[in-house]
Amino acid sequence: MARDYYGLLGVEKGVSDTELKRAYRKLARKYHPDVNPDEEAQHKFKEISAAYEVLSDPEKRRIVDLGGDPLENGGGGNGFGGYSGFGGLGDVFEAFFGGGATSRGPTGRVRPGSDSLLRMRLDLTECATGVTKQVTVDTAVLCDRCQGRGTHGDSRPMACDTCHGRGEVQTVQRSLLGQVMTSRPCPTCRGVGEVIPDPCHQCGGDGRVRARRDISVKIPAGVGDGMRVRLAAQGEVGPGGGPAGDLYVEVHEQPHEIFARDGDDLHCHISVPMVDAALGTTVAVDAILDGPTEITIPPGTQPGATIALRGHGMPQLRSGARGDLHAHIEVVVPERLDNHDVELLRKFKQHRERETAEVRSAHAAHSGGLFSRLRETFSGR
Ligand SMILES: [Zn+2]
Ligand SMILES: [Zn+2]
Repeated sequence: MARDYYGLLGVEKGVSDTELKRAYRKLARKYHPDVNPDEEAQHKFKEISAAYEVLSDPEKRRIVDLGGDPLENGGGGNGFGGYSGFGGLGDVFEAFFGGGATSRGPTGRVRPGSDSLLRMRLDLTECATGVTKQVTVDTAVLCDRCQGRGTHGDSRPMACDTCHGRGEVQTVQRSLLGQVMTSRPCPTCRGVGEVIPDPCHQCGGDGRVRARRDISVKIPAGVGDGMRVRLAAQGEVGPGGGPAGDLYVEVHEQPHEIFARDGDDLHCHISVPMVDAALGTTVAVDAILDGPTEITIPPGTQPGATIALRGHGMPQLRSGARGDLHAHIEVVVPERLDNHDVELLRKFKQHRERETAEVRSAHAAHSGGLFSRLRETFSGR
């Protein structure tokens, strides 16, 4: 059965080419995969593009008006799946909206520039405080000799002889449906439609030159590895002096010798001598934003214990609220003892003679059981 191509575009049978175009353009803007990524919309986009492809071609439209279906090739019955044989959806879409190498008509010499990416190494302190850095970027800038015009002196661009300014050349091919006209960008002017007979001596007609520039980049406090800071219009100037793209600065956070970062939290390890863990002590930590900060190790601190300093971590990018600093305690048992140490520890042992080594379940649920402690312990990096 023939498909209702007119119905798909919401138009009547006698519709003019202009009306047809308008109807398709409206629907394509609504269902194009870039705009509307859901699967049903994509299917719909294929359908309306196929319908437009058919109805905008007089030969195919004639077949439809006679009650046939030009996309029905030998009764394959796979609906629009077989549509790709007709040049693909890209052609019909780009005919309308431009872009891509297959676009129709002159592309114009002036086009927007592309974005650039710059990687910047920052240490943890710079990520925490924010920083302003001078960087040198190598991008395309406006040619100062021709101001982007691409011409030398007072000379002017001329219409391309090969394509007569259309930017495309056409070839006629024979197919099952009769003669099919296909277009491709003009090889002489590369689709621009005009040529520059006397190009600027500095930029060769491109309207831009490569140059190193020093710019100042402000990185906000709280950035992290992989984040990008956007500097509007600091990217590449476009061909013909077109508007510059954006410059993105990507943060590469260097590992810190003490602290490991986990989002807004910081982690460090503190090794505490056995006796200090038993009696309690204090340790000064050089916290990133707060300078030397005292951490209190309470008496009876166990190996693997974690002590959290609320609000001593990294600042959040927007709110500035601070994460926490977690100190993971390692208890160090002395490896060598002199005679005096041994004497003291023996005395201590006599005093606590009820305490002996014991075998315990690995699944002990109470705190201090091996596995529950392993779970609590930060795994380190
Ligand atoms: Zn040309
Ligand atoms: Zn120039």
